[in-house]
Amino acid sequence: MGSDIPQLRVFFFPFLAYGHMIPIVDMAKLFATRGVKSTVITTPANVPHILKTIERSKNLGIEIDIKTIKFSYLEAGLPEGCEIIDAASTGENASLEKTMKFFKAMTLFREPLEVLLGECKPDCLVADMFFPWATDVAAKFGIPRLVFHGTSFFSLCASVCMMQYEPYKKVSSDSEKFLVPNLPGDIKLTKQHLPAFVTGDVETDFSRLLKRVKESEVKSFGVVVNSFYELEPDYADHYRQVLGRRAWHIGPLSLCNRNVEDKALRGKQASIDEHECLKWLNSKKPNSVVYICFGSMANFTSAQLMEIAMGLEASGQQFIWVVRKEKKGEEEGKEEWLPEGFEKRIEGKGLIIRGWAPQVLILDHEAVGGFVTHCGWNSSLEGITSGVPMVTWPVAAEQFYNEKLLSQVLKIGVCVGVQKWSRLEAAGDLVKREAVEKVVKEVMMGNDKAEARRRRVKELGETARRAVEEGGSSFSDLNALIKELNWCHH
Ligand code: UDP
Repeated sequence: MGSDIPQLRVFFFPFLAYGHMIPIVDMAKLFATRGVKSTVITTPANVPHILKTIERSKNLGIEIDIKTIKFSYLEAGLPEGCEIIDAASTGENASLEKTMKFFKAMTLFREPLEVLLGECKPDCLVADMFFPWATDVAAKFGIPRLVFHGTSFFSLCASVCMMQYEPYKKVSSDSEKFLVPNLPGDIKLTKQHLPAFVTGDVETDFSRLLKRVKESEVKSFGVVVNSFYELEPDYADHYRQVLGRRAWHIGPLSLCNRNVEDKALRGKQASIDEHECLKWLNSKKPNSVVYICFGSMANFTSAQLMEIAMGLEASGQQFIWVVRKEKKGEEEGKEEWLPEGFEKRIEGKGLIIRGWAPQVLILDHEAVGGFVTHCGWNSSLEGITSGVPMVTWPVAAEQFYNEKLLSQVLKIGVCVGVQKWSRLEAAGDLVKREAVEKVVKEVMMGNDKAEARRRRVKELGETARRAVEEGGSSFSDLNALIKELNWCHH
């Protein structure tokens, strides 16, 4: 960058969920490495979740600022300290009402954001999709607003098609397949794969919010996508050329974390020491461990966890399994979600992480040869980047779309067979142990199909790495974006 050009200043404002904060912090870091002055906006209680990453970047010479704005959870009718939405806040005891209150409360950020932008006058605002009003706020200060959804081009396209054509209205049952119109690739879904706020006849607060999200996407300066062109070229083209959106692909964002510590620091404090985890993995052969994790939001019932445990054991595979359960009491093997004596039996063979896992660190290890995922986009892309074939087990959000991309389009995932979208705190279908055993074996044990799957995903992983290197597709698209922002700001 020439010294006569003043430094570009970009503010990043993620939605208060790990699946949004983690990639946006990565993005802020990425922009900072390209000479942009990056600032992340969050609430005071969320600072600890990103501070370590930011301090570490600082030590490496990458400056990122944090600005806090207050979240009036009490005004929103939420319990004290409720400043992030995760498995605990959507958990068994949380009501849909509370989740909805949380989303509605996001509008309370409008005023403090206006004050902040007025004071700091950045050159651009990258704001999460769940802040649709941010486009108008940015316009007030004459600065461009970029939208971050945190999902794939495929899902972005599918959700626009769904809203435009409402194909689910033309079927006679919830399980009848329909074609997603105007979407490349002959993609078929059922009504059950979609939430009621998409397919329902009655408008809800959430369906209204989603409408506003789509409107603000069109009105905004454009969309930044955590993906790379070679992964989903048909959908990247479709989104831009057919659906007419301005978009820049700048991912995989997780790749801006190059070493063990960077990778281990993402999100919450991990429940396992990263070196201990690596030591365990180092003792295993390549591609011999399956990693099971369902992201930061999904909650499974004890009955479902029991089926997973039995299925894993029956598969005979070594595994790392992340569960959101604390250890109860002293007695081993006496938990309602675990078969009796399970942990003793699997000693050395399986590792249960209770809480938060250093996911990217695990996926990047050569011992990991399969990933059972809920198809959250970050996890899906992290699996691809690490070159690990997947078992797809979608739960909520846009995860059923991502499953189609992984299984049908990219052919790097095997479906466990879930058919019903479910609210985060409720279980959808109960997947039986036999199904878990079958798909885990299918992905981990080498027949021709499994080998081909592994080869494809390894190639994609290598392409992902090239995409973010100098001259790569994501590297170049980020350059183009920064150039355009620089141009706007003069
Ligand atoms: N993650 C992690 N450890 C965990 C659970 C999740 O590091 O134990 C990270 C994961 O690497 C990903 C993010 O949290 O970056 C989850 O995002 P995703 O879109 O996959 O799912 P969500 O949590 O939004 O459902």
